[in-house]
Amino acid sequence: MAIFICAQCGHTEETPDEFIGKKARCLSCQTMGTIQPKPPEPQPQIPEPLGKETNTSLPPQDFIETETPVTKTPTTALKTQSLSLVLVILVSSILVVQLLSILLNASTTPQWEYKIVSPKDSVLTDELNELGTQGWEVVTARRASGYNDSFSYEMILKRPR
Ligand SMILES: [Zn+2]
Repeated sequence: MAIFICAQCGHTEETPDEFIGKKARCLSCQTMGTIQPKPPEPQPQIPEPLGKETNTSLPPQDFIETETPVTKTPTTALKTQSLSLVLVILVSSILVVQLLSILLNASTTPQWEYKIVSPKDSVLTDELNELGTQGWEVVTARRASGYNDSFSYEMILKRPR
């Protein structure tokens, strides 16, 4: 459609397209004007695209809204993954340290073998030297009375197993 828009009074009159560019007289105020291609046609089309744009811009917003959680979930998933990784590393390192300490304690904790001897005073030094070469060490020594009122050193010895 074509339209005549009066520059004087603003009166509009729709005309067929064949009158586009032709002079016409305003039906309201008799002012001469030119018939133009109808602008309101694109104008309704603009609101329609605008409506479509808002409609199409809403889905992107929805898409963005759905996208932001999607982008958030990977980051949180990454964070939880890294956190779980750190936890796993911590727990495994603690376990390794505990295992190592248990092994070290087992290997370093001395297991002693004990022995009680009461050598006669006459052979005391030789006996102690002999026991020392066998790995025995005196823990305690006390003067003790034996039968026949004889006295001798009663000694507790130890050596690693
Ligand atoms: Zn007019």
